[in-house]
Amino acid sequence: MAEAPTPLVDYHCHLDLYPDYRRVFRECAQENIQTLAMTTTPRAWPHNRELAGDCPALRVALGLHPQLVAERGVEMALFERYLPETRFVGEVGLDASPRFYGSFEEQVQVFSRVLRLCQEAGGRVISVHSVRAAARVLRMAGEHLDPRRSTIVLHWFTGKLSEAERALELGCYFSVNPRMLSTKPGRELVVRLPLGSMLTETDGPFVEVAGRPAHPRDVAGTLQAIAALRGVNGAEVRAAMLNNMLSLEARHHFGP
Ligand code: MN
Repeated sequence: MAEAPTPLVDYHCHLDLYPDYRRVFRECAQENIQTLAMTTTPRAWPHNRELAGDCPALRVALGLHPQLVAERGVEMALFERYLPETRFVGEVGLDASPRFYGSFEEQVQVFSRVLRLCQEAGGRVISVHSVRAAARVLRMAGEHLDPRRSTIVLHWFTGKLSEAERALELGCYFSVNPRMLSTKPGRELVVRLPLGSMLTETDGPFVEVAGRPAHPRDVAGTLQAIAALRGVNGAEVRAAMLNNMLSLEARHHFGP
């Protein structure tokens, strides 16, 4: 009998935002795609938890997206209530792009509370958005989070290489999606980062592949592209992504 292929890893996607989300949850479970499903508001947590069931391939993160902080900041009380139920947090972070800059100070308040709660709880894996705010995100991480207690995964990182160096010192991982590979700085980052600090993601359904929303299985193309950029073979990168995820998740003790 043929050996099962190394499972794919999509460490940042929004399974609940696909029009046919029940099917996408089911396909990830059936295809054993190791998925970290974001939520964008704490209110979405219970339903996502239920959709994931007890399938070991499906992880659900508790989040409050920085682009929604203006309307949903009040849900921080719910975030705090649900945090003991999960070791995965996301999507959280900061977005200083013009459209969301109006809520930036409130985003900082929310994100610092998220970091402090994760520090207190320990054992959390945190998927972080840092659009035009990499330096601030890293400064806050350095202030509030002991990397021996919880780990940040920088999703779709677009900061400078010097900021990426700082992130590595803080023990961060980087999740890479196809859109990053379509930009020169994104490709440069993917070549410069240690392979051991990288994970694959789709950020589906927001990111498109071939003119349709990316499906978690599309990370197969991303890891081939990473392999080509780094001059190694796809199987090596595929195995590395799974190993990176497993060692990240084994880093911290979670639970009482
Ligand atoms: Mn996202």
